[in-house]
Amino acid sequence: MVLRDEELLLAVLNSAPVTDGVAADALDESREGAALVQSWGGSGSPKELARLQQVRAALQAVIRGEEPATDDLASALASATQTPRVTRDGVTWDLRVPDDDRLAVETILAWSRVITDLPGRLRPCANAECNLFLVDHSRPGTAKWCSMATCGNRMKARAYARRAAAG
Ligand SMILES: [Zn+2]
Repeated sequence: MVLRDEELLLAVLNSAPVTDGVAADALDESREGAALVQSWGGSGSPKELARLQQVRAALQAVIRGEEPATDDLASALASATQTPRVTRDGVTWDLRVPDDDRLAVETILAWSRVITDLPGRLRPCANAECNLFLVDHSRPGTAKWCSMATCGNRMKARAYARRAAAG
């Protein structure tokens, strides 16, 4: 299966959910972690999982504006080159990268294309206790929650309780 840019980016970014204060990591070196990465077209090797964890942490920091984690992204891309291939349909760029780095590099490239195509629309969930990210496709661009069903309703209920307590 080939994931679209946004699917791959969000799959990697959102692979470390925090639910009711409990952090999980879908990319740990378990059979599930390997199977998940294989479903994205990877091998599921421990090195590949480690690369994806590093890139996930760097991308999360960059998106949150927490630190200049772009250095980490640059070093993750160090092994990658793109070479042009000309066909009758035009020029395509082939990514050349060690197998264990491929998904991590593709994730960084996907991030770059998403924020270029949809500026300002990739953001962390507004629930500070949530560790997920969203790409906002709403017309006004005001989406705040990873999911209205979970964080949206939870935060609205909390705001309502605060107002009720204050009033
Ligand atoms: Zn959320």
